[in-house]
Amino acid sequence: MSKREACELVQELARARERFPELAELLRFYERLWVLIVARRQQVDVDFSAHMAHFDVDVWARRGAPALAFGWLALREDEFRPWCGQVAEVLCERFPELEVPAEEPLVDLARRFYEHHTTGHGGAIDALVLNALIPWLERAAEELVPRLPVARWQRGYCPVCGGFPDFAVLQSARTRTLLCGRCSAQWPFPVARCPFCGEQEPGRLGYYTDERGLYRVDVCDSCGHYLKGVDGRRFRGVLRPEVERLLTPGLDVWAVQEGYMRPGGE
Ligand SMILES: [Zn+2]
Ligand SMILES: [Zn+2]
Repeated sequence: MSKREACELVQELARARERFPELAELLRFYERLWVLIVARRQQVDVDFSAHMAHFDVDVWARRGAPALAFGWLALREDEFRPWCGQVAEVLCERFPELEVPAEEPLVDLARRFYEHHTTGHGGAIDALVLNALIPWLERAAEELVPRLPVARWQRGYCPVCGGFPDFAVLQSARTRTLLCGRCSAQWPFPVARCPFCGEQEPGRLGYYTDERGLYRVDVCDSCGHYLKGVDGRRFRGVLRPEVERLLTPGLDVWAVQEGYMRPGGE
């Protein structure tokens, strides 16, 4: 997501409150969070030129190791900790139990989350660290995606940061574009394969759609995970998957009621 797209996301959330009055409270929360994230993101300066000078895209595509190493972000505890405090002030509205860990360096927690998809300290701390990292991860993806032949990636996790997708845009009966739940990078992936466990047996994969056949939830009975999405062929207007994933909490509720879950953290 570029800086312009990030600013548009905030405007889109404000507009969406009128379209979805039943989500107004949640959308106001997202708006507060994203205003903060977008402002922080504008101060993030990433320079990967030294790393990318020796980067081999053939090795990257063959081995499947995400391009961005955590150390490239060069996070400093004296900057990251106060920033986490700011994010926590907004997040505690949704996670009243949230307390910023005082003992452990937050950059260490962020590294653990980045490499293992969880801090090991529960959902509230995971949410804190994820949202605190987004300004850096999105800037990193903005720099790296144009240099990566993502069509060759062919994996269900993010080619930039290794995160799991949390939204998909159906492009055809065979192909979809996945959206990373951490850095918002996008990459193509087959429809007939679970991005989380690689299952390809049609009897183990399913999907459900709304009555218009526009929004959908893909589910896998092998790993029990689900992925929200939209049919890009049926969507009218400008499709912003970064916005759509926030406007579709009903799909999450439905998937969880059906016994499926998001990957990571379990
Ligand atoms: Zn990513
Ligand atoms: Zn699966």
